[in-house]
Amino acid sequence: MSFLKHRRTALERVEKFLSDTYFTDCNLRGRLFGDRCPPAALSCFQTPRRIPYREAVEQEFRPVRVGDSFGPTWQTCWFKVELSIPPAWAGREVHLVWESDGEGLVWRDAQPVQGLTKEGEKTSYILTRSLKETEPHSLTLYVELACNGLFGAGKGSMIAPPDPDRRFTLSKAELVVFNRDVYELLVDLEILLDMAQLLGEENQRSFQALYTANQMINVCDVTDPSTFPAARDLAAVIFSQRNGQSQHTIHAMGHCHIDSAWLWPYEETIRKCARSWVTVVHLMESNPQLTFTCSQAQQFQWVQSWYPGLYARIRDLVAKGQFIPVGGTWVEMDGNLPSGESMVRQFLQGQRFFQQQFGQICSEFWLPDTFGYSAQLPQLMRGCGIRRFLTQKLSWNLVNTFPHHTFFWEGIDGSRVLTHFPPGDSYGMQGRVEEMLKTVKNNKDKGRVNHSAFLFGFGDGGGGPTQKMLDRMKRMRDTDGLPRVQLSTPDQLFSVLEKESSQLCTWVGELFLELHNGTYTTQAQIKKGNRECERILHDVEVLSTLAVARGGTFQYPASQLQHLWRLLLLNQFHDVLPGSCIQQVVEDALEYYAEIRRAGAELQEEAVQSLCQELLQPGAGSTQSTLVLNTLPWERTEVISRPGPAGAEALALVTVPSMGYVIVREPLLPPQPVAVRKQEDGSITMENGVIAACLDAMGRLTSLRLLGSQRESVPDGCCANQFALFDDVPLYWDAWDVMDYHLETRKPVTGLLKPLEITLAGGLRGSASFSLQVGESSTLTQEIILDATCPFLRFLTQVEWKEAHKFLKVEFPVQVRSPNATYEIQFGHLQRPTHWNTSWDWARFEVWAHKWLELSEQRITQFPSVVLRLRAPKSPDATADIGHHQFTYAVMPHQGSFQDAGVIQRAYSLNFPLHAVPAGAAQCPPWSAFSVSSAAVVLEAVKQAEDNPAAVVARLYEAHGSTAVAWLQTSLPVKEAMLCDLLERPLAGGRLRLEPRGVPLSFTPFQLLSVLLVLKL
Ligand SMILES: [Zn+2]
Repeated sequence: MSFLKHRRTALERVEKFLSDTYFTDCNLRGRLFGDRCPPAALSCFQTPRRIPYREAVEQEFRPVRVGDSFGPTWQTCWFKVELSIPPAWAGREVHLVWESDGEGLVWRDAQPVQGLTKEGEKTSYILTRSLKETEPHSLTLYVELACNGLFGAGKGSMIAPPDPDRRFTLSKAELVVFNRDVYELLVDLEILLDMAQLLGEENQRSFQALYTANQMINVCDVTDPSTFPAARDLAAVIFSQRNGQSQHTIHAMGHCHIDSAWLWPYEETIRKCARSWVTVVHLMESNPQLTFTCSQAQQFQWVQSWYPGLYARIRDLVAKGQFIPVGGTWVEMDGNLPSGESMVRQFLQGQRFFQQQFGQICSEFWLPDTFGYSAQLPQLMRGCGIRRFLTQKLSWNLVNTFPHHTFFWEGIDGSRVLTHFPPGDSYGMQGRVEEMLKTVKNNKDKGRVNHSAFLFGFGDGGGGPTQKMLDRMKRMRDTDGLPRVQLSTPDQLFSVLEKESSQLCTWVGELFLELHNGTYTTQAQIKKGNRECERILHDVEVLSTLAVARGGTFQYPASQLQHLWRLLLLNQFHDVLPGSCIQQVVEDALEYYAEIRRAGAELQEEAVQSLCQELLQPGAGSTQSTLVLNTLPWERTEVISRPGPAGAEALALVTVPSMGYVIVREPLLPPQPVAVRKQEDGSITMENGVIAACLDAMGRLTSLRLLGSQRESVPDGCCANQFALFDDVPLYWDAWDVMDYHLETRKPVTGLLKPLEITLAGGLRGSASFSLQVGESSTLTQEIILDATCPFLRFLTQVEWKEAHKFLKVEFPVQVRSPNATYEIQFGHLQRPTHWNTSWDWARFEVWAHKWLELSEQRITQFPSVVLRLRAPKSPDATADIGHHQFTYAVMPHQGSFQDAGVIQRAYSLNFPLHAVPAGAAQCPPWSAFSVSSAAVVLEAVKQAEDNPAAVVARLYEAHGSTAVAWLQTSLPVKEAMLCDLLERPLAGGRLRLEPRGVPLSFTPFQLLSVLLVLKL
């Protein structure tokens, strides 16, 4: 007999049958669990430290009860859970149900077995699927409970600073009988209900699903499980009705995005990895088709050292192709701020780790959650064995919708990689009908490709995928009306996308995230530490390589350097270098930088001692001499400060050969000394025969000229080096975002504390200083310095920063008309508009650059710069950026193109100071290890080859954006030279000629070349 059906009541009938709130006394949900029984005994030991299992179980445990609370935040509770399963439960599936705040890990027989996290829908540990009478009914488990949530312990909101006093309550701990037949029926009905609701009234499948669900409830007597199979058969009819051939295919892959540190410290991440991955491994045992993509070599290495048993199981699953390492990098790093060489090392350390551990490198770059992507990344990927890239963060754009989900991304050198954004715009899906439909509907490349990725699983310690997600997707394998869903791998997805790629579009240049652009500034100490440590490791590698090549007993500090690089790379994680982490993480990061500085200084001294041993011996002569070392690949003439008699510092003008050294006894005389003069109106002029500047009493530039050109750089009536304060209150993401409207709140800094006074009258160096009151309670002191022969003015800046929600900037209005400005990025540069014509231009109101940025009008003026801004967000670190800051920036007027004016080299020189060491009386001609014949080519890195202690890797790039031919000249004893990739694997046909002039190399614009030089040692 047929009945009229009212759509709304039918839908709600199904909802109530599944509800865990209403009618649980008579609906299906209320039957999910059968009998229950409490643990035989429950006790706990609490500690502020994160300790190993062995140590924990030795401690004294005191009895506790369900309902007790623990803490405060960051403590760890070890629970001893003694269980005794009632004999009457024979044949039944038995779970331990554990509901508590915090993140739990179950230990059984001294091994971690599963994570327990309410927020990750993991509150059940399956003790047995069918209790046998013969198996022991009593057992003891331990639950290690971290007193922090999935997303830390923010007070009042997720990203607020952690609440140090939070308590964590154990609300449920009991044995239960689990009715799997009820569960399966619930999943069937949930899918049908979703289809009915989401496919909509215009779709007949919606009604088919609804009427099927309705009929299932009719046949199902919840008190009589023998009625369930008939209900399930009805569902099976719908699920087995197939799609047509043209249906979209979704490639589902398990995933668990784990931030290496964020709202919790690094140490907790180690446990988050263990909790999550052991849960995945456990799930794979009963779901051999489950695939799981896992990035970040660092996290594998953590689990390897802290959880060797788990790691061994993971290695087996990697070999089986189920547990899939992806990404190829050491961590999922920030995509904007690390140097080019740092990015190479992310891949070098990552890919080599994956190769050594699993016998394979990753074939796709994986960076779903980073705040923008440098236009140099495609070339770096290609150089590291990668042609495929997966991300999705641009779906967070505030202004413009990115026009593609599958496309070719082309970098500044023309390298292309196949790029895919999962169209569901998430990397934490749950296998729901809604998400599948969104994936298909949202896909911007419909008609070009018919496959897409779907990453499912709770991130950040949520344990990744759940059984329920898998069970949902099993029902959606090929069901008419829904996209096909298959468990897949990145390789399967990208292989099919490659086959379909003939119609794909190409996006050229950076993938700019129109959000989170405060992360270029927040936590200035971290930015500074990163830049400084990049320089330190560069210098240690150069000097150590030279020391090895000079012969003798010096050992290249390969393992120490690897350790220091890994610390630096770890801090480049996408919530650490961007500054979007809590105070504890900042403290850890600064400690790692301190270690790199400390160890780096020692390693550098050892290398210099070995390289220049005979020069450093104290001699009999009375002449004071200085050894000056240059780690950059061009000759430099600069004013240095060197140790003088009686410990005093003395200035000297020196010329140092390219990547080499010189002994300086008598310093050079400058062609023209620096002249600093106070004018009648109180302003101060500085001049060195190259440039001339005029500064007012507030330290502002009223004039800046390149002598020899009549061109004035500062516009009439304007002042450069003008500080300005802006209100900085974003919409939500405090540490992350600076919003467009902050530009409307500009207030020039006008509080003068100490007017500009001459501090060095001239000669080799002239300088003048002043102090300003900034905002309510901050102060700024600046020394403006001009050196003899130097074409730029330096601004050594000290700030005592005490503002809240303010943004300090320094402005350089320039007499230049240009639609674009040029910004240095990794191994090259790019242009961005200076106007706001379109929304794409406007959305880039706040951008990043590396060592310089340049504005020129048919070759007139340029301004290299270093960090020049401060913010003061309050979440997630209330103390962010408060305190003392010191930084330097510089401004350089020039004629001709910035390439011809040597801007790139000058910006390097500002960042890589010469090293001066007291020397003995020994004589020695200037020595250069490396130089390059073309100014367009920069020799960026010199290091020992990873696999051959007798070989050197020299990495060069074309920096002008031109085609260039260059000779790499070296005085090292080279017997063989060949090109290699960024992983240092020799390229086929890459053998290079060795000629008296050096090694000939040819470059296309911004091309990166690595040369392997085998030494005669
Ligand atoms: Zn993340």
